[in-house]
Amino acid sequence: MFTFLLTNDDGYFSEGIRALREELRTLGRVITVAPDRNLSGVGHSLTFTQPLRIRRVDEDFWTVIGGTPADCVHFGYYLFLDGKKPDLLCSGINEGPNLGEDITYSGTVSGAMEGRILGIPSVAFSAFGREDVDFSEIAKVAKEVVLKVLEKGMPENTYLNVNIPNLPYKDIRGFMVTKQGKRAYKEKVLRLTDPSGRPLYWITAEEFGWHLEEGTDYWAVYHGFVSITPLQLDLTNYQAFEKLRNIF
Ligand code: MN
Repeated sequence: MFTFLLTNDDGYFSEGIRALREELRTLGRVITVAPDRNLSGVGHSLTFTQPLRIRRVDEDFWTVIGGTPADCVHFGYYLFLDGKKPDLLCSGINEGPNLGEDITYSGTVSGAMEGRILGIPSVAFSAFGREDVDFSEIAKVAKEVVLKVLEKGMPENTYLNVNIPNLPYKDIRGFMVTKQGKRAYKEKVLRLTDPSGRPLYWITAEEFGWHLEEGTDYWAVYHGFVSITPLQLDLTNYQAFEKLRNIF
């Protein structure tokens, strides 16, 4: 019997978290704590300037009103697990991929990042697909990753960013350990007007896309493989370290 902490950034009502919760419940107890709204793009953010309210959704299932994924991980760990580490933290399954530099905006990846900060083995799951995503199929693949991590353990100082192609379970070509790729799209600002004629601005993208470089997260999901990217908290650029030391 394993214990899991589960969160996401799409909100507690999202299909992705429900499907993953169902799969994890076949393996043990799942403490689910998720935001009450879609917070995609919220990044790694903790609410410490105001108190928050928590509402019970179901058995071992809670939502934090106005809480971020990192808040949810905190409440799950300190309140509902009494500071006892679960066997694994899962974040997702996100509706849409988290590839390349986009992971810096990702609330899904940040949920796993927060778990890693707390010393919990953590995995973020995202679906590569935005329309007609079959989360029950993707959750089956996620469960395989979970079982592998539980069996083999998580490498030190690591958390995982997993992207799963939106394909039937039987059509997935396999697993691939990948590097973080690079985005190949530009954001743009839409100019709109409100009913009183005042300007409104909306950040959006021209068209999503990433460089199709072999060995990257995008390359894997593009070719039907599950992408597993090991991430770390240390953002130091070690290549620049000596160079800078010669300058300063
Ligand atoms: Mn999201």
